[in-house]
This record gives sequence, structure tokens and C-alpha cells, in this order.
Amino acid sequence: MTGRLVVVSNRVPSDGPPSGGLVVALHDCLHENGGVWYGTSGQINDAPSDGFSDVAGDGYDMRTFDLTQAEHDGYYLGYANSVLWPLCHRRADLMALSTGDFETYIAVNRRLAKMMARELRPDDQVWIHDYHFLPLAACLRELGVTATIGFFHHIPFPAVHDLLALPQHHIFPQWIASFDLVGLQTQRDVAAALEMYRSLVGAEQLRDGSLQYRGRNFEIRSFPIGIDVDAFAKEAGRRDGRALLNLATDERLVIGVDRLDYSKGLDNRLSAFGQYLEAREDGDPRASLLQIAPPTREAVTAYQNIRSEMERISGKVNGLHSDLDWTPIRYIHRGIPRDTLAALYRAADVGFVTPFADGMNLVAKEYVAAQSHEDPGVLILSQFAGAAEQMTSALIVNPYDIGEMAAALRTALSMPLAERRERHEALFKVVQRDDIGHWTDSYLAAMARIAHKPLVAEAV
Ligand code: ADP
Repeated sequence: MTGRLVVVSNRVPSDGPPSGGLVVALHDCLHENGGVWYGTSGQINDAPSDGFSDVAGDGYDMRTFDLTQAEHDGYYLGYANSVLWPLCHRRADLMALSTGDFETYIAVNRRLAKMMARELRPDDQVWIHDYHFLPLAACLRELGVTATIGFFHHIPFPAVHDLLALPQHHIFPQWIASFDLVGLQTQRDVAAALEMYRSLVGAEQLRDGSLQYRGRNFEIRSFPIGIDVDAFAKEAGRRDGRALLNLATDERLVIGVDRLDYSKGLDNRLSAFGQYLEAREDGDPRASLLQIAPPTREAVTAYQNIRSEMERISGKVNGLHSDLDWTPIRYIHRGIPRDTLAALYRAADVGFVTPFADGMNLVAKEYVAAQSHEDPGVLILSQFAGAAEQMTSALIVNPYDIGEMAAALRTALSMPLAERRERHEALFKVVQRDDIGHWTDSYLAAMARIAHKPLVAEAV
């Protein structure tokens, strides 16, 4: 590629070797092309310097900056995770609105833009990640930066009627239009973004598919993110997941793996499992649910009751159905190493993935990648996961309908081998085709294609 690749994400992988699909993929791109990765250091410092600190990267530069406690509270815990996250996950009712947090969010983006603008070159290709930095291109344009700037929004794009609940909704179209390429997970997200331009500001799509707003041309396209399928499949075969769990020979396993987040539909999932057990007839297999859900964002109010609610429902189900030698729901609330996770996916007869809203949901793809081709498990997938747009051979369910999910469990646990193989083959093909390498390649190719387009710097 011509020019440097410049990546921006909230955190840079500065503490040890990169792990996790996305981080590794971005690391590989930078390692291959050279470039710079900007992000917060993860350190709180109430007297941060006016520039970046250098962290040694492998063939590229990592430039980090510290947040003050007030910035961490207002920008990260506040506007990003207590306003934008619920807004984009169709929970506008959970938004904790505060003018101060919005101002801090803008101030952090301005501060970062100012520090970056001193270092960016006109032929750089800047790839900004996620909702922490929605205004960053607008701030950079304000400072006269003309480099090509792309954005990837990893979470769902909000529907217009939800967006209207955000006091700052009128600035959204301007933030988005300051990028040159806006990547979203699904066609559904692209439709939501186009609808925002159509109904809120009357911007029209040009014949080549790009949009024009306030004198800027930009593109909004879907790039469904994937995983490193080969690495995951290999990992899954190394250990015996059933032995790790000490499962009885005739015991079937259903698995759920999520951060403990209200968007993941965990309460309905546990209830659906309870309903499945209630409706079980003599001769139906005995199945256990292994739910792995480490706590997350515990400093954010909306997350504080989820754990006790989970414990309440699993306690109730276990109270009703446990036997001397059997506990139907095993609930683990901590993260587990990836090789163990991969082995557990493979051991599971059913992957139970039922978010109310999710940008993509990588767990669905990991579950499929980990299955054996000879005797694969069945994926039950929420229609509201971005992954459902591609993974149509899963058993697609409505996560609000507990009865439907209970029935899907029954179908999955009694599905004949031929149907399981057929569905798995179709799912595996999709997951393998659109893997993480394909995602980075296609995004960077699209950004390179539009890099030559003339840009009009614009005040915001
Ligand atoms: P989100 O980004 O909202 O957390 P995704 O499903 O897209 O949801 O990605 C979650 C990632 O985190 C997956 O790669 C998954 O394997 C990993 N993960 C989730 N829970 C755990 C856990 N308990 N232990 C280890 N990894 C986990």
C-alpha cells in the first residue's frame, strides 16, 4: 500500500504479545506494512503529557496516551459505555445522559486529534476503530487533516428512532461524514445508516453508492468481521473438553460464552434452558448448560444487577431440576484460556448464542470453527446477532421468545447426524470464506481504492 497504515483503537496491545482475533489481525497488518498504532495506555494519570509515549511494537510504532481519572469516567465509562453502547444495542432506556460526560468525550477526541494531527502525513491511511472515536475524524478535519480516514463500527448502527433519544443526534451525521470509508458489520447496519442520512438530514446516495453530505463524499459499506478459523479449529482438537468437565457418557452439553452484558440475552437464555428441562419427556437426553460469562464494566451502573439476576435464574432452575449426580446449569463467571474454550466448544452438542443485539458475535463463528466435521454440534443463533445475516444454516431464533428457544434446544439435541453435517458444512464454508484475514484485506483494499479521491477539508 502507498502511505503508512495508521490504526487507532481505544486500547493498544502494549502489555505483552497481542491476543484475540481482531488485535492479532491489526497487529499482522501493521507488522506487514509498517505504520503506527495509537490508543490509550490503560494507565490513569492526572497530569498527562501533551504528547504520546512510545511502546515498542513488532515492526511498527505504538503511540499511547494516558487518560486522567475524570477523562476515564466521562469519556470511557460515561459517554462511550453508558450512552453509546446502550443506544447502539437498542437499549436507549439504559442511557445515562449527562452533559458533562458528552463534553469529556468530545474533549478526549479533540485532545487525541490535536496530538495526532502533528504527526499525520497527507498520504496516510488512517483506520479508526469503534464507538469511542466517532467524532475523531471530524476533529481531525477541523485541524486540516486531509489523509484518508476510515472507520469501523464494531457494534450495531442505531436505528433512527433510537438515535432520536440521544440529545446529540443531530451531530451524528456530521461525525460519520467526516470519514472517507465507514465500515459496518451487516447490510442491516448499512440500511440503518442510510436511513439516518435520508430521514434526518436529507442526504442522498450517489449513483456509485457513495454519499454526499456537506460537500464531502464518503462510503458506507458492510465488512462482516471474522475469526482466525484455522487457528481455532486446530486449537479445538488439542484437548478433550468432555473430560475437562467430567461429563457422564450419556450427558449432552449446551454451551454459552459471553461477557456478562445486558445485550447478550442471558436471562432469557437461562429461562429457555429451564423451560426445555421442564418439557423434557422420558427418553429425551439429559443435557447440561455450561454458561461462561465473566463480569465486565462493573463500574457502569447498568451492569451491576446482571450477575445477581443470572444467579437467581440458574439457582431456580438448578433447584427444580438437579439430581444427586447432576447439576443442569454450570455457571462460570470468569474468563478462561482460549485453548480450553476451544476444547469446550468442540465438546458441546449445541452452541447457544442468543443476544438481543450484537454487532457480529464472534462466539457463533468460534463455535462453528471448533466443531469436528464428522460429528458436528448445532448452532442456535439469535436473529439479532450480526452473524445471522451470513450464518443462515443455524437454527435461527427470536431471543425474546423463550418458548421458541426451548423448542430449538429440543430440535438441536435430537437433530439427526445427516442434518447436523449438512448445516455445519454450510456454516463452516461461510465462516472460513469470511475469516479475519478476508476482513482486513477487503477493508484495506476499499480504503486504498478511495484514497485517491479528492477530499474537501471542512470545519465542524
Ligand atoms: P463482544 O465483543 O460483545 O464481547 P463477541 O462474541 O463478538 O462479543 O466477542 C467475544 C470474544 O471474547 C470472543 O472471541 C470470545 O471467545 C471471547 N470471550 C467471551 N467470553 C469469554 C470467556 N469467558 N473466556 C474467554 N474468552 C471469552
